[in-house]
Amino acid sequence: MRSIQFPDGTSVPSLGLGTWYIGDSHARRDAEIAALRRGIDLGMSLIDSAEMYGNGASEKLVGAAIEGRRDEVFLVSKVYPHNASRDGVAAACERSLQRLGTDRLDLYLLHWRGGVPLDETIDGFERLIAAGKINRWGVSNFDSYDMEDLAAAGGAAVATNQVLYNLSTRGIEWDLLPEAREDGIPIMAYSPVDQARLLVESELIALAREIGASAAQLALAWAIDCGGVIAIPKAGRAEHVEENAKAAEIVLTDEIRARLDAIFPPPDGPTPLEIL
Ligand code: NAP
Repeated sequence: MRSIQFPDGTSVPSLGLGTWYIGDSHARRDAEIAALRRGIDLGMSLIDSAEMYGNGASEKLVGAAIEGRRDEVFLVSKVYPHNASRDGVAAACERSLQRLGTDRLDLYLLHWRGGVPLDETIDGFERLIAAGKINRWGVSNFDSYDMEDLAAAGGAAVATNQVLYNLSTRGIEWDLLPEAREDGIPIMAYSPVDQARLLVESELIALAREIGASAAQLALAWAIDCGGVIAIPKAGRAEHVEENAKAAEIVLTDEIRARLDAIFPPPDGPTPLEIL
């Protein structure tokens, strides 16, 4: 598995496991646990969850999947903006830790920017680090100007910004992605297969077939190939996880990149960050 570094030097796999909608259905529980465990086996050992997902159901299922394997996993969760006050973030983190069955998060993100002043949330995160509850913190759905505000609020320790990024949604290549590279922080690309919509794009399917890959594999290989990006596809089935893991082995040629650019054009100017 290819890897990428956080600013503190910690390496994580370039492909992780998303968990939105995982844990919502009792009927899918065993398959979802098996999918996450298969992902860990294959080196996709960064797992992304959030208190929002299924109102805690995702974190509970992740907790079951990583039982006995906590040290193999880089665990990420997110706090709701309305819980991101100094005391609120501590209480929300404690609830997440309980659901996940662990005593620490590797990374804790502010899910999106809300009404709590950023310096207060940062202080809350730093207190959690001091208490050993989280190893580092970051943000999600922050546009360029939000990152500037974060820096002005004392957010130099931010580890990542998790944003919507896939072949169909490339706006961050204009500003956020180069800025993150300059700052040395990885971008976490959510919905990297556009919630399965990319998988039915006929031109992508045809191009993928030419290189002996699936549409999912080509979309994921593209997302992580440019550097500075961790993609976190969600797959509730082990066979999808196995397919996705192989994306890390694909090396894209300049010709394939150019043909992808022709099908899914890069941005030609600044666009507001899209949010799901
Ligand atoms: P996604 O990963 O782009 O797409 C997930 C969908 O693609 C699922 O329906 C999954 O099906 C399907 N899929 C994945 N691999 C496949 C394969 N090889 N073959 C066929 N189908 C495949 O969308 P997402 O869940 O929105 O994004 C990924 C993760 O990013 C989330 O789970 C979450 O952790 C995070 N996220 C964060 C935010 C935020 O605001 N920070 C927002 C959205 C998402 P199966 O489940 O049936 O395998």
